[in-house]
Amino acid sequence: MTPMVRAEQVCKSFGSLRVLKGIDIEVDAGEVLCLVGPSGSGKSTFLRCINHLERVDAGRLYVDGDLVGYREKGDKLYEISPKHAARQRRDIGMVFQHFNLFLHRTALENVIEAPMLVKGESRAEATARGRDLLQKVGLSAKADAYPAQLSGGQQQRVAIARALAMEPKLMLFDEPTSALDPELVGEVLGVMRDLADAGMTMVVVTHEMGFAREVADTIAFMDDGVVVEAGRPSEVLGAPRHQRTQDFLSKIL
Ligand code: ADP
Ligand code: MG
Repeated sequence: MTPMVRAEQVCKSFGSLRVLKGIDIEVDAGEVLCLVGPSGSGKSTFLRCINHLERVDAGRLYVDGDLVGYREKGDKLYEISPKHAARQRRDIGMVFQHFNLFLHRTALENVIEAPMLVKGESRAEATARGRDLLQKVGLSAKADAYPAQLSGGQQQRVAIARALAMEPKLMLFDEPTSALDPELVGEVLGVMRDLADAGMTMVVVTHEMGFAREVADTIAFMDDGVVVEAGRPSEVLGAPRHQRTQDFLSKIL
């Protein structure tokens, strides 16, 4: 089976700052990978590479068997066209810490925008599916509300529905609950858990260790631009093999 995500020695620098120093990881279809690690370890940069927001400078990164951003010819790599990149990107949903909703659009309008614009769905078609998705995230009653009229947890659930509207094969979450008041974290994690249970392939950067323990198939601990260790939650959380992992976990658990 082709893994949904495969990173082989993925490297990324910003100028002279080496941020990713050879990331190796695989995520199978239908699996949930939780990425944990200290601030500045490169977690967001790695997600952004998967989603074409940053370009890998060395190593290979594949999504569903396709090299991200490049095509291979012999042992040479060529950048793909913006159009080809946009096509690859369509299949990947991303949810950010700060929701990033369109503020002058209602919840429903946020959800239907991309399917209409990018996929050419009719308004009626997109609206019908958009309403289903809002129901799935528990927000049927808020379809016509503007982001400012929604709590942070509700806004984040709209953001998840919006990403799902493109029918992605992979969902990326970058600290989706870090900006939320504590009492709103659970409703967002609940939606993510439902999504995982429904078989969505997910890569989740999070500090929510309870969620990671229960939902992740694999937890990868990143530090200083590498995956220090990865394994089942019971292994990584219960019996971390590396001192760096132990130190990190002792600070947050
Ligand atoms: P994490 O998400 O694990 O906190 P990041 O991937 O956001 O880590 O950042 C890793 C390092 O890369 C940090 O030192 C950060 O300042 C740096 N960095 C991230 N994006 C950029 C950028 N666009 N330009 C320069 N440095 C960046
Ligand atoms: Mg980050």
